[in-house]
Amino acid sequence: MSCKKADAVLPTVSSDPVPPSAGGERIAVCHRCGGCGKKQEFVNSGKFRVNANGKSVDVWLIYRCKKCKHSWNLTICERTKPGKIPRELFQAFQENDEETAMAYGRDAAFLKRNHAEWRLIRGDQ
Ligand SMILES: [Zn+2]
Repeated sequence: MSCKKADAVLPTVSSDPVPPSAGGERIAVCHRCGGCGKKQEFVNSGKFRVNANGKSVDVWLIYRCKKCKHSWNLTICERTKPGKIPRELFQAFQENDEETAMAYGRDAAFLKRNHAEWRLIRGDQ
């Protein structure tokens, strides 16, 4: 997995977009939780984890189990050359830019890559 698609990852240009969470809809992401031992809803923490060692960069978006807060890192890019990541995007990762985090959380291609399951929830469910 590389960062080649980094600038194409925002939901407006996704090939398989999930509607933005407007109008009372939101996306519930489900995953088998290592803490609970069963499938749970995971919540976008709005935080990134960046691991840069000079030659390569790994970036994850951190989700947390709604029940036990067990963390689950969704890969944004792995072993990617720092120069391949647009500077503003890299800065957004480092500053835990919430808008960027939420944009990834609505990106079907990103969720699919991480084998996440999701569904749309309407209203206050
Ligand atoms: Zn859990």
